[in-house]
Amino acid sequence: MTLYLQNAQYIDSQTLQVSSTHLAVEVGATGGVKLIDVIPPTDERKDGDRVIDCKGRFVTRSFACGHHHIYSALCRGMPAPPQIPTNFPEVLEYVWWRVDARLDKDMVEASALAAALQMARRGVTFCIDHHASPMHVEGSLETVASAFEKCGIGHLMCHESSDRNGAELAEKSLAEHDSYLASGRPGLIGLHASFTVGDDLFEKSVNLAKKYNTGLHVHVAEDIADEVHCEKTYNKRVAERLRDLGGLESSKTILGHCVHCNDRERKIIADSPVWVVSNVESNQNNNVGLTDYDWLDNIMLGTDGMHNDMLRSAKAHHLVCSTTGGIGYDEVYRRFRNVHTYLGQFEGVGDDLNNLVILDYDTPTEVSDENFYGHFLFGLEALHVNTVIAQGRVIIEERKSTLVDEEEVLSHAQEQGKRLWAKLSE
Ligand SMILES: [Zn+2]
Repeated sequence: MTLYLQNAQYIDSQTLQVSSTHLAVEVGATGGVKLIDVIPPTDERKDGDRVIDCKGRFVTRSFACGHHHIYSALCRGMPAPPQIPTNFPEVLEYVWWRVDARLDKDMVEASALAAALQMARRGVTFCIDHHASPMHVEGSLETVASAFEKCGIGHLMCHESSDRNGAELAEKSLAEHDSYLASGRPGLIGLHASFTVGDDLFEKSVNLAKKYNTGLHVHVAEDIADEVHCEKTYNKRVAERLRDLGGLESSKTILGHCVHCNDRERKIIADSPVWVVSNVESNQNNNVGLTDYDWLDNIMLGTDGMHNDMLRSAKAHHLVCSTTGGIGYDEVYRRFRNVHTYLGQFEGVGDDLNNLVILDYDTPTEVSDENFYGHFLFGLEALHVNTVIAQGRVIIEERKSTLVDEEEVLSHAQEQGKRLWAKLSE
């Protein structure tokens, strides 16, 4: 089966060359896209082949999110916390740990469907999610993965293991990773952060990651409190602790944030094969500080649960890091696209070149081989995403999901949101 895109203005996501061409898109978890001169006539096409007219539209590779928390999808508009947080540990205690402790299976599923639908609408076809639901652990990763697939979104899941809810729940979280990965699903081993993870849980997580040839997904030095705790408790910095526990050895490992890493830690991380994910909007929202990442090659971008729009994350990253680190447009784009390089380590995970967006981009200036970065940072927005192709399959067409009933997904999410808010008010 082949999907043909007729008369497209194709922007190659690597060379940034713009070609007026037809495209043949392969269908499947692995597959590419070919530039072709002629679309085969109807009688030469196979059953299931389809042609989409892209006249006047731009086509390019779709987007992927390097760090998300879809469990926060029902929080928009929720009741205020019992106390207003004055620092980051209080944000966790008064807001997020109260939310995740109340999530049941129905709420998790509704969150995942709503977030996946909104990602798809914004051209995001792959999500690396860090999931937390301490009261619904068993089967939770499959719940999220299945919801993502209903909306056509690829995924790399993990569950947030932590000692903050006691040893029994930490074991349950490890067991959930074990059974999910044993079922053949792609995933990472999720840990909350150094200040809520003891050595024993950390070592078990490293061993589990090795068993499945995968990496860890852990928040690192998001706030200075993580460093202060680590120095006080272990007499070392967070990256030093991770290194000493064997947590920096895999190129599949993702460290979230690294805002407060000092020069020594930066060198340790930069000399290791791990990846760091930047989430500047979340950092500003939590008032934890900002950093530039100009010490690092393996850097990608996420949303950290703030929203589902990777074009927005790239613009925010530009506004922050062009000031803090003096990086150019090309480096912002490289960081935005780095997630595909990272995901390239997971064969058949569904993030190949047959993931595309068709854009209704009403630009007042020409798009050429030389000026794409300017359009990327100052022009292109989620509102231009008209049609989305994931793994060669159309998942959004004319801004609507082809796979799920959007009204149903959103009204179900609203019902589950009300249940969550009622629990938060008890
Ligand atoms: Zn996070």
